[in-house]
Amino acid sequence: MSETDKAQTSTPGGDTIFGKIIRGEIPTNFLFKDDVCVVFNDISAQAPVHFLVVPVKPIERLATAEDGDKQILGHLLLVAKRVAADQGLDEGYRVVINDGRLGGQSVYHLHLHVLGKRQLGWPPG
Ligand code: AMP
Repeated sequence: MSETDKAQTSTPGGDTIFGKIIRGEIPTNFLFKDDVCVVFNDISAQAPVHFLVVPVKPIERLATAEDGDKQILGHLLLVAKRVAADQGLDEGYRVVINDGRLGGQSVYHLHLHVLGKRQLGWPPG
């Protein structure tokens, strides 16, 4: 099933695969980890470098983030930038948040995609 197909069938609510990764129930090689977020490679990489920045707090999607999540959201971007530098993405990269069905979200635990090391096209599909 493609990621787009998954986005059509995924529904918000409940635990997700990312919850299991955060709790250590699935062995995962973390590129970065702190009290607020974890970073790991996407299992279905769409670029030579493709990692995910995932808050420990199970915010379902950007659309359900609240004003009180401001510090978490800012932290995610700063960690994305830091890990991008660690991964050698000095020529640029893309940060993506897929929100909801039409946005192509398949896992309902907020996450940033960071993609790099190839020329990325625009507009996205
Ligand atoms: P999205 O479609 O924006 O919700 O992104 C979910 C992403 O999670 C997809 O790019 C998947 O490839 C990725 N993914 C799903 N399961 C895993 C996993 N176990 N480990 C790493 N990445 C995963």
